[in-house]
Amino acid sequence: MRVLLVHTGGTLMMQATGTGPLAPGRYAADLLGELPVLRKIADVETRILYQLDSSDIQPEHWVEVARTVHGALDDYDGVVVVHGTDTMAYTASALAFLLPELDRPVVLTGSQRPLEAVRSDARQNLVDAFELATSRIPEVGLCFASKMLRGCRATKLDAWALDAFGSPSLPPLVKLGLGMEVAPHVLAPRARTSPFDGRIDPHVLEVRLFPGLDPRLLRGALAAGVHGLVVSAFGSGNVPALGRSLIPVLDSARSMDIPVVVVSQCPRAHVDLLRYEGGARAAEAGAIGAGDMTAEAALTKLMVALGRADEGGRVRSARRAFEHAWVGEMSENVPRLPAAGARLP
Ligand code: ASP
Repeated sequence: MRVLLVHTGGTLMMQATGTGPLAPGRYAADLLGELPVLRKIADVETRILYQLDSSDIQPEHWVEVARTVHGALDDYDGVVVVHGTDTMAYTASALAFLLPELDRPVVLTGSQRPLEAVRSDARQNLVDAFELATSRIPEVGLCFASKMLRGCRATKLDAWALDAFGSPSLPPLVKLGLGMEVAPHVLAPRARTSPFDGRIDPHVLEVRLFPGLDPRLLRGALAAGVHGLVVSAFGSGNVPALGRSLIPVLDSARSMDIPVVVVSQCPRAHVDLLRYEGGARAAEAGAIGAGDMTAEAALTKLMVALGRADEGGRVRSARRAFEHAWVGEMSENVPRLPAAGARLP
């Protein structure tokens, strides 16, 4: 088995600088030199693309990583991407949308503590990620704390615990114990039929609603040239529709051909805009519900959809993109909660 190791940075290979903060300035050069045992799992080749704290990873980096992976798929059985934890869920989501046709694993991993630390989660995560990269699971996965999550469902939930990630709306793809327990919802392999498409439009804005948000601030963003908006709304997708109503801004966005995608602030939720008046008014004004997608997935999918927008316009392209899941990023046909007053069986 052949595995490509793509290094982008993160805590995993950072070295402590005395009493100063962990910083990417002092990376050990080659991870394999630090953990040669990985060669027992596969023949490994390394490409060090960046040595960045993941707070500095930008959409242009996602595209370069995706292009590198795409170019390597014929030559390797799987790819491991080492990445900082802070924005790993964004990169995992972006890679999933940029590489929808996968017939082998692309596994992102990192660690909360550097590999050089005696008590580190890096070794376990790397060994697991390499095992998974040889497993033929055709998904962009995020491997952390003995689990592989679907990358475009994952989110960083904990900045302290070694078990840092979850995918609140989807059970893990794989649990690693004595063996590997592979879930039935792993996607089937998709043959590569299209050339790599790295178009992406980063001119999007995510706004988390809060009581008191002045809608004029959003108007300012629209005027400043935003191409798409992700609104992190309350509960099942509600927005204020009375005092400081968001509805007129949504109307303006539509008339400016700026799509508005609604996710929920609740880590586990399914946006159903028609459930309450506030959401229904938002839907009437053109807002697009993102089902049970994470904010990371909604934001990156919107960037990719906008990058590919055609003469039909941005709103139309976004609407089409969010109608269906591309790579399992949202549940389709989620059972609706029973109507008020209905009796549960
Ligand atoms: N700040 C680091 C990063 O995201 C955190 C980590 O890797 O755990 O690059």
